[in-house]
Amino acid sequence: MKIAIVGAGLTGMTAAWNLRKQGHNVTIFEKESNPGGLASGFREPQWQDSVEKFYHHIFKNDKDILGLVKELELTNMLSFSSPKSVMYHKEKFYPFDTIPAALLYPGLGFGFNKIRFGLVGLYLKIASPWKKLEQVTAHDWMIKYAGRSVYESMWEPMMIGKFGENYADKVNMAWLWARIHTRTTALGTFRGGFQAFIDVFAEKLRVAGVQFVFNQPVKQISKIADGSFTVSVNDSEENFDRVIVTTSPASFLSMVPEIPEDYRTKLLSLKSMGAVVMVISIKHPLSPDGYYWYNLPKSEGYPCLALVEHTNFVPKERFNGETILYAGDYLEDTHENFKLSKEELLKRIIPGLKKINPNFNESWINNFWKFSERYAQPIPFVNHSQNVPSIKTPIDGMILATMSHIYPWDRGTNYAVALGNEVSRLFL
Ligand SMILES: Cc1cc2nc3c(=O)[nH]c(=O)nc-3n(C[C@H](O)[C@H](O)[C@H](O)COP(=O)(O)OP(=O)(O)OC[C@H]3O[C@@H](n4cnc5c(N)ncnc54)[C@H](O)[C@@H]3O)c2cc1C
Repeated sequence: MKIAIVGAGLTGMTAAWNLRKQGHNVTIFEKESNPGGLASGFREPQWQDSVEKFYHHIFKNDKDILGLVKELELTNMLSFSSPKSVMYHKEKFYPFDTIPAALLYPGLGFGFNKIRFGLVGLYLKIASPWKKLEQVTAHDWMIKYAGRSVYESMWEPMMIGKFGENYADKVNMAWLWARIHTRTTALGTFRGGFQAFIDVFAEKLRVAGVQFVFNQPVKQISKIADGSFTVSVNDSEENFDRVIVTTSPASFLSMVPEIPEDYRTKLLSLKSMGAVVMVISIKHPLSPDGYYWYNLPKSEGYPCLALVEHTNFVPKERFNGETILYAGDYLEDTHENFKLSKEELLKRIIPGLKKINPNFNESWINNFWKFSERYAQPIPFVNHSQNVPSIKTPIDGMILATMSHIYPWDRGTNYAVALGNEVSRLFL
C-alpha cells in the first residue's frame, strides 16, 4: 500500500519504520524543516550536542522507546544518570527523588503524614487500578488517602503548575497514578541530544526507503471515489491508499473538513494545555547545589513551573562550557506569554533566577531562545477513557494518532513510540 503519514514526530517515524518493514510504500509529510516534532532540538555552532526545545528525558523502564533504540542498534547513544530534583519548602529547596530524601523533606510535616505519603506512594507504585482511579479527581483522591496537608504541600503546586487554577482540581487520579506508577529516578538522554538520535533514525528510515517531505504543511486530505485519499500540500497533491495523521486534534480537523460530526464533536471536547519554554545559555552555573530540576511554586512568586539546569544532567563541556537552563511553563493557549517577545519573557523570568541564586546577574546571559506549543499536555478529566476517540477515524483507511490517544499514560516519547507501534499493528 501507498501510505501517507502526516508529522515526523516519534509517532509518525515509528509507524513509518514498522510499515516499511511490512513492505508498504511510506511518505512522511512534515511542516517543519527537520524531524522530531516536540522532541526536536537545536544546536549552536560551538556546541557538540543539541539542546531540546522543550526539556526531555526518558525513564529506565520506558520499554517501548528502549525497544526501538535497541532494534535500531543505537543503544550506545543512550546515557542514564540520576540528577537531583528538588521541591520547595519555606524559601528552601530539598531533594525529593529518593525515599530517604522524601522522608527528610520538611514539607511533609510530622511522622503520620510521612507514613501516609509513603503508603499511598507504595500503593500507586504497585497497583494498577487506573480504571477505578479515573472516576475520581486527583485532588479528591489524594486528600482522602494522603491527607490535605500532604496534598497541599506535595501535589497541589505541581497540579496548578501543570494545569493552571482552572483545571488543577479537575484532572483525574489515573493521570497522577500513571506518573507515579511508571517513573524512575534514573533519567536517560541520548549522546548528542534527542535530535542526534532522531536524525540517525530519520537516516535509517531514508535508507529503508521511506520518503520525507519537509517544509510542507498538509493543507487538506480528501477521500476520493475509488476509496483512496488526496493529500494536498501548498500547490501540489498526491494520492495515497491510507493516511495516518499524527498532529494535534485541532490541526487534524482543519485538514479533514469532511470528518463526520460525532467524531468532530469528540475531538473538540478534548482539552489540552500549551507550553512556553525559554532556553537560556549563561556563563556560570546557576544552582548553588548542583541541582538539575527545580519544582517551583508560583504561589511563592516564581515566574514558571520548572527551572531545569540541563548542564547538571549533560556535562557543560558538551556546550563549550556554557550553562544551559530551561524555564518552563504549562499555560492555557490564550495566555499572554504565548504572545510575548523573547526579551519580554526573559524579563519576567530573571527575578526567578535571582531567587535561586542571588549572585545571578544579567551579564551572565550569553543567549536565549523562546519556544512555545499550543498542544503540549492533554488534560484528562474524570472518566476520560470514554472521551478519547478511537485511532480509527470514521473515514475508512484514515487513522488519527495523537498525544491524546496514549491515555491513561502521560504524554511522552515512550508512548509516542508505543502509539506508532499500535498504528502499524492495525495494518497487519
Ligand atoms: C514541555 C514538554 C516537555 C516534554 N518532556 C518530555 C520528556 O521529558 N520526556 C518525554 O519522553 N517526553 C516529553 N514530552 C513529550 C514528547 O515530546 C511527546 O509526547 C512526543 O514527542 C510526541 O510525539 P508525536 O509524534 O506524537 O507528536 P509531535 O512530536 O507533536 O509530532 C507531530 C508532528 O506533526 C507536525 N505537523 C503538525 N501539523 C502538520 C501539518 N499540517 N502538516 C505536516 N506536519 C505537521 C509537527 O511539526 C510535528 O513534527 C514533552 C513535551 C513537552 C511539550
